[in-house]
Order: sequence, then C-alpha cells, then structure tokens
Amino acid sequence: MFSPDPQGARPARAFRTLPAGSLFPYEIQGYSPKPGDVVERHGSVIAVHRAVDLPDYAIPWQVRPHSGSSWQLEQVALSVHTQTGAAFYYLTDHTWTPTSLILGAFLGLKPLDDTFGPFEAEGGTWRWYTEIIRDVDETDQEYTWTAFVCGKESVPRLWTPAYAARSERLQRVSRAAGSYAARMRELGLEATVERLDPLAVYERDGWICQICKTAVERERAWPDMWCATLDHRIPLTAGGEHTLLNVQLAHWICNLHKGDYFPVDL
Ligand SMILES: [Zn+2]
Repeated sequence: MFSPDPQGARPARAFRTLPAGSLFPYEIQGYSPKPGDVVERHGSVIAVHRAVDLPDYAIPWQVRPHSGSSWQLEQVALSVHTQTGAAFYYLTDHTWTPTSLILGAFLGLKPLDDTFGPFEAEGGTWRWYTEIIRDVDETDQEYTWTAFVCGKESVPRLWTPAYAARSERLQRVSRAAGSYAARMRELGLEATVERLDPLAVYERDGWICQICKTAVERERAWPDMWCATLDHRIPLTAGGEHTLLNVQLAHWICNLHKGDYFPVDL
C-alpha cells in the first residue's frame, strides 16, 4: 500500500517523547522504527532488534518459522521493553516496516495470553500497544508510522499537525468543488470544476478583495457581508469555469453586487 520507506538506510536513532507544549509530542521518522532504534514514550523505552541477532535459545519456538510457514526469521523484528525485558515479535517487509502479521508478545520464552492485554512485570502493570501516527512527507503524500510499544499509558492513534492541516484542506477543497458542481448542475452548465482550495486562493490574492481592492478580514465568516468568498472573474453564467485562473477573492458584498455570488462554506 505504501511505497518503500525512504528512511530504510538511515542511521539508528532514538524517538523520544517531547516536552509538554511541543507542536507534536512524539518523534517519528518514516514508516516505523528500524532495528537499532530506540523508542521512548512517557519514560517507557523499547529497543528494536532483528530476531536473527538473538542467541538461538532466546527465540521462542512460536516465532520460529516451521515447515509450511509463510515467513522467514530474517524478516522477524522485535520490540524489547527495557524495563521488563518483555518482547513483541512481528513480521516486517524488506524495509523493516511492520506487516500485518504479529507473532506474539513474550516474557522470556512465555507468551502473553493476551498480546495486547495488561501484564505484570517488575512491580508494574504494562501493556503492548500499536502506535499509529499519520503524517505527510515533503511531497504531501500521506504515510503512517507504526510502532509496537510497551507502556503504562498508550499512545492513541494520532495525526501530526501537518497531516491534520492537509486533511482539513482536502475537506475544504472537496466541499468547495462539491458545491460548485451542484451549482453548475442547477444552472444547467457543463464546465470544468477544478478541485481547488479556497484558502489557497485567498492567500494568493493576499486577502485583498479583487473587486473593491480593499482588505478582507480572515476572521469574518459567512453570513457577515464582508466575509471572504470566491468570485469568478468570468461568471459561471457567462461561460466561466471554476478553475484557479478564473477565481479570485472577493468580499461577499462585492460579489453580490457583481451578481456572481455563490457562497462557499469553509
Ligand atoms: Zn470588496
């Protein structure tokens, strides 16, 4: 589903929990931690290893490939919880990214009855959980970071601020394109409807109404007469298209006077 992790060949590193008040509380990079990496979440630490690097006697039999099994030991990675020695075994692809096959959680050679259930060790109650964080890369492609971590509190599924912003933008674009397409159908028009982000147009136009040439305040929201709207330079009714080239920022009131009013719900 995802392209090969571009971080496959990077040096080992630590992924820490950042101080309160940070933009995003957890360090991540690429699709998952790799062998040699360490992940610290709220004081609980796991280290990622390759199963082939373990001494033979330390590998639970349940994890070893047997005749007819679909995996090889070379593909098996494990998270080792440094506080308790508990280990979580999973299958990876060639970039050490977890696949959907989980081989189990163990204390020593003893499997936990419930892989993700609570267990007692070293005077505490712990549990394994799957940390799933959605982010976007430099090229705006979304990807998911997956890590098997042990702790007293779990890290929920999270979106990084960049992913959240992208998601909001896509929703805006989709809403705007949807309303324009509906409007065109109403008017019996067939024209190009580009999926464009109204906010990007407002930014492009410097928050200056392109009709009256005065500032548009971002804080004003519909139905405020002075709120930002998308105006079509050539009106849809005159054959104009809903494209980046044909849209501009205008006050709603200015748009109304021009007669091309069409509200966009941001
Ligand atoms: Zn205006």
